[in-house]
Amino acid sequence: MSTWEYAPAPESREIAGLKPTYRPFIGGEFVDGTGEPLKSVNPATEEVLAEVGTASASDVDAAVKAARRAYDKTWRRMPGTERAKYLFRIARLIQERSRELAVLETLDNGKPIKESRDADVPTAAAHFFYHAGWADKLDYAGFGPDPQPLGVAGQIIPWNFPLLMLAWKIAPALATGNTVVLKPAETTPLTALVFAEICQQADLPPGVVNIVPGAGDIGAELVNHAGIDKIAFTGSTEVGKLIQRSVAGTPKRLTLELGGKAANVVFDDAPLDQAVEGIVNGIFYNQGHVCCAGSRLLAQESVVDELLEKLRYRVSTLRLGDPLDKNTDIGAINSAEQLAKIRELTESGVAEGAEQWTSPCPVPERGFFFAPTVFSNVEQSMRIAREEIFGPVLSVLTFRTPAEAVAKANNTPYGLSAGIWTEKGSRILWMANRLRAGVVWANTFNRFDPTAPFGGYQESGFGREGGRTGLEGYLDV
Ligand code: NDP
Repeated sequence: MSTWEYAPAPESREIAGLKPTYRPFIGGEFVDGTGEPLKSVNPATEEVLAEVGTASASDVDAAVKAARRAYDKTWRRMPGTERAKYLFRIARLIQERSRELAVLETLDNGKPIKESRDADVPTAAAHFFYHAGWADKLDYAGFGPDPQPLGVAGQIIPWNFPLLMLAWKIAPALATGNTVVLKPAETTPLTALVFAEICQQADLPPGVVNIVPGAGDIGAELVNHAGIDKIAFTGSTEVGKLIQRSVAGTPKRLTLELGGKAANVVFDDAPLDQAVEGIVNGIFYNQGHVCCAGSRLLAQESVVDELLEKLRYRVSTLRLGDPLDKNTDIGAINSAEQLAKIRELTESGVAEGAEQWTSPCPVPERGFFFAPTVFSNVEQSMRIAREEIFGPVLSVLTFRTPAEAVAKANNTPYGLSAGIWTEKGSRILWMANRLRAGVVWANTFNRFDPTAPFGGYQESGFGREGGRTGLEGYLDV
């Protein structure tokens, strides 16, 4: 069956309300950061979107002090019922400004508009709604009769889900009575600074939320600042380890949400067409820039040929291109550096003897794009089976028995997520009990909900975000 030709359906970039300059947000005001300004680039076109003022060490200090004042004078004393109203207001404002945020996120990050519009922004709002509900019920959350906040939280987030990761961090911190200083990623600071406007619109007391754009050194300043009580980090395992070393021996609390190399396990009794949709969602969603991406497909040997045929056909129908086009499935890679990393790891796959298949889709000449790629005949020792590629590249391995599937799935230093595809409920439970992963999806993949705790173990980090369990990381319990 051939695919339909779609006419272009671009979303208007005017909706983003792009401004020529953005500035750090400290103590309830936008201020001139004293760091070197950075330029945020649209990865789909390589054009400069805006100049962003960055924080220096002294700005980080000012932000931490503003957060401390707000914590002592206002936020920790405020009844949970009142804090809840602010969170609820923020959630409503995210909804009201959702089109603007979605377009801005797509311009700054390169992700398809259908994802920023239908997933990132609504889920960010959902996190604030959900945590608004907890703010006045902490006494009944199972952490004792009167659980106390930690104080000032330093939060560092990556570029793959800029607004959503901000919501995962800020919503639980505020609901539990903490104040925050957040550093967005260098390549995607814009929606965080529009979020700062939303804090002003919501009349959030000054200093409760502070946003300090900057590079990794500003993240390190935040980590090492003596006025910080808790660090929450999402990003690479490498930087996570650095942060853990810096925090060791201090009273600072720490939660780390790091990389992954998740196994998506398909048994021969699985409905294959449905599994193909889950595999595609698992690895090609957000260009594969997903810490819990199903980047290792483990297919039962008896169905691997049929599965690969269906998968290649389906992947060849994915539309790659302008992220603002509503029909686009695969947008741009976030940066030239990330594209180079994906290329290097892909080349290593070929050099080590795996069989590469790449979608024949047209690839724009300008911008950072990488066509969806599937490697078969992958051995466990190959780098593409072990390392996080963080791009639209799937490695396919095979197994014969459930025990072999478990052994191969667990053969990784990570432990963030896993997927199981089978029609047998008993097999799902048997597998889920044995897979060493923080999240196990059955006959689905990449499902996110504020009520469900998310996090990993081993080199994927520790601590949970979301759900009742996620509150624990911001309470003195
Ligand atoms: P990083 O871990 O470097 O970045 C995550 C955040 O930490 C960013 O805000 C970054 O700032 C900041 N940061 C960098 N160095 C330090 C430091 N020493 N102390 C404190 N904060 C710091 O990830 P990258 O963006 O460099 O991506 C590299 C690889 O990491 C990817 O290829 C991917 O494999 C993995 N990754 C995993 C993610 C996940 O969710 N598990 C998310 C992002 C990346 P800045 O943006 O300025 O560098």
